[in-house]
Order: sequence, then structure tokens, then C-alpha cells
Amino acid sequence: MPKETVLEFQNVSFSYNETANVKDLNVKIKEGDFVAVIGSNGAGKSTFSKLCNGLLKPTSGDVLVTGLNTKKEKVSNLAERIGFLFQNPDRQICCQTVAEEIAFSLKNNGIPEDEIKLRVENTIKEFGFKADVEPFNMSRGQRQRLCLACLIALNPKILILDEPTTGLDYKECMEMMNRIKELNKSGTTVIMVCHDMEIVLDFARQVIVMNRGEILASGRTREILCDNELLSKARLLQPQIAATCTLLGSDYKDVFTVDEMIARIKELKGKK
Ligand code: ADP
Repeated sequence: MPKETVLEFQNVSFSYNETANVKDLNVKIKEGDFVAVIGSNGAGKSTFSKLCNGLLKPTSGDVLVTGLNTKKEKVSNLAERIGFLFQNPDRQICCQTVAEEIAFSLKNNGIPEDEIKLRVENTIKEFGFKADVEPFNMSRGQRQRLCLACLIALNPKILILDEPTTGLDYKECMEMMNRIKELNKSGTTVIMVCHDMEIVLDFARQVIVMNRGEILASGRTREILCDNELLSKARLLQPQIAATCTLLGSDYKDVFTVDEMIARIKELKGKK
């Protein structure tokens, strides 16, 4: 069965002031996709993600979230369909305890009291939090996990993540990304703004490349990340191993990971 389109941009442009900051964006994201949005600073990634959840409304064109036009819907109405994880968890956290924080967004979305109690308990158990801990006494990584937990408790169809691994150490980063991967496996559509090409390579199945407010290209992750010409046009670098393999030449075509590199070296040795 063909998958449902859950997010659509139709000829979208947006201007903060006189000139268009993003223009002519046409995007269709299907249910269950895992899409990374990449581009250098100022390319329009944050503007794109804020247009997705209705925080910004298009100056022209339309954004449809599960069929709802963001121009006509309140952000709060969209929030139960599309969750937004800010880059800085402290922009999101506003309560005195972990339990209150999780309950807060559920209350704002009109979930009934007994359902809130249940969801808070389940979320705390799932993430291994302590209900009474003060969020600002938690580490940055834990606060980021708490923000993700608040979003998951709402059970949105689509998650937008703005640089979800910024400020996390390697272990925290992998924990966060593996949790997001699991969510995606269970059907949540994920749209992730990310500057880390290794994370993009490991987790996203599709990539949208932005440059100077426009979409330069979109396609499957590996096809995009091996297109050096495209990436340099967008002022981006290939992931390290892919870049090394580009320099090594056609024998190392389509090699992206250490394991693939080892397999290719063995294969080439065997041919000699
Ligand atoms: P990215 O997230 O890729 O770094 P942004 O979406 O933040 O890019 O920015 C796209 C363009 O919009 C840039 O030219 C930036 O200067 C401009 N811009 C972003 N936010 C604002 C704002 N609040 N007011 C005016 N211009 C802005």
C-alpha cells in the first residue's frame, strides 16, 4: 500500500523582512520516513523546521501537516501531530520536577487527567527517570532526553529534531539517536536538522540539501553523500570515510563505513 504523505510544502517562501529567506520549497515527506535536512549556516534549515510546525507561517505557498494547513491551525493544535525538539533543551524546560515537566505538555494539549497520570508514569519508567528530580539539576544530556521524553509522551506522528546531538558526549549522542531510530521503526516520521554528516549517514534514509534558502537536492542518503560536487556547492563536507574513498578512486566507490572499507580492502587483496 502506498504510504501517506504526512508533511507537504507547496511552493513555500518565507521572508523575515523584505527579502525571501527561503523560497520555492516543494517537499513531500511520507509516513515513516527518516529525513535529514543539511546545509551550511544560514542555508534555511531552522526556518524550514519552524515552517513545518507552524511556528512560522509561509509568506506564500502552503505547508500541510497530515493534511492540515499550518496557516489555518493554531500551533497548539499542530503540536499533537508534530513534535519539535529544540537544539537547546533549556528553551523547552519550564517545570520544577521531571514528572511535572512531562505532564505540562500533555495538559497543554488537552489530554484528560487520568490519561496524563498514566502517560507520565509510563514515560518515567521507559526513560528510567526519577519523578521528583529537578530538571536543572540534571546533566545537559539528561535534559535533552527529558525533552525527547516529553515529546514522545504526546505520541506525535511526526518529530522534528533541531540538531538533536549538540552538546552531548558520544555515549549520550548514541543513546539519543538509537531512541530516535526505535521511534522511527515503530512508525514515527523523523525530520532532523543535522550538521554531523556521520550521524546523517548512520541514521537518515533520505536527505534534503539546502543552500541559500533553496532546496538544492533531495534523495537517498548515500546517493547525496557521495555527490561531492553537490556537497561542495552546498558548502558541506563528505563524511570522513567517504571523502577518503573519493580520493582513493573508483576501487573504493560506495564505501562509507569502516566495515565496508575493511571488506573492500580484503576483496581487492583477493583479486591480486
Ligand atoms: P540555518 O538554520 O540553516 O542556519 P536559518 O533558517 O537560521 O538558517 O536562516 C536562513 C536565513 O534567514 C539567513 O539568511 C538568516 O540570516 C535569516 N534569519 C534567520 N532567522 C532570522 C530572524 N529571526 N530575523 C531575520 N532574519 C533571520
